Amino acid sequence: MFNDGRSKKVVFIAHCFLNQNSISDGTAIYPSAFRSLIDYFLSANIGIVQLPCPELFCLGLDRGDIHGADRSVVVENTRIRSEMKSKIHNVELIKLADYVVQQILEYKKHNFEIVGIIGANRSPTCGVDTTSNDNAEVNGMGLFINEISDQLSRENISIPMIGLKGNENIQEKLDQLLCQKTIVNNPKITI
Ligand code: SF4
Repeated sequence: MFNDGRSKKVVFIAHCFLNQNSISDGTAIYPSAFRSLIDYFLSANIGIVQLPCPELFCLGLDRGDIHGADRSVVVENTRIRSEMKSKIHNVELIKLADYVVQQILEYKKHNFEIVGIIGANRSPTCGVDTTSNDNAEVNGMGLFINEISDQLSRENISIPMIGLKGNENIQEKLDQLLCQKTIVNNPKITI
């Protein structure tokens, strides 16, 4: 089964890396997407799965406050974190994490290789190594990545996760991710 043209390798990537138009006001770096990230995985024949953007889904494009961009990023992120933790949004966030984990389980069931999950460091929602809390960038996961991680643990599934913040150490981090997998000749990032 699936002995066709596909590579049977996929990576899950935070929504805003592929669609900068979704990100909170004042934080987009590129007009459309992190092209280098897309090129990197396409060069390695790895399919790209775009994670949902929980903040867009729960709070809207303006995150519920049209003045968000007037604050510093970590202050605004702390406000967003607090909104995302409210009961109503937390229910939605868990549903979105369920949707992601269902996809992962389906790929695993058919022995596809899940290369990793790439989150957005400093985000209150999608951070992997760092997130925002108490008006600062702090160590720890964002709410959405944390929920995905918990659900995967309950399923006894381990998938490498990395967090990117802009283009900081991007080549090094992506190479580390691919080196853990059966992929040779890591592509080169062009920024
Ligand atoms: S980091 Fe996550 S929640 Fe924030 S804009 Fe990107 S995808 Fe949306």
